[in-house]
Amino acid sequence: MKCPICGNEDTGKLSKSRYFCSNCFIEMFWSKTSELHLFKILEDGSTSPMHLA
Ligand SMILES: [Zn+2]
Repeated sequence: MKCPICGNEDTGKLSKSRYFCSNCFIEMFWSKTSELHLFKILEDGSTSPMHLA
């Protein structure tokens, strides 16, 4: 899985459809409808929804 934000190919896998990029601290997730959702990982460990530009 390549990070759609920074292009980093060394992303970590959290589960079958969830990945994270340790370079820009985002979590990527595919919904059942194959829509890509991005979440910014905040300093306190919570996540905030992001939208693709
Ligand atoms: Zn990235």
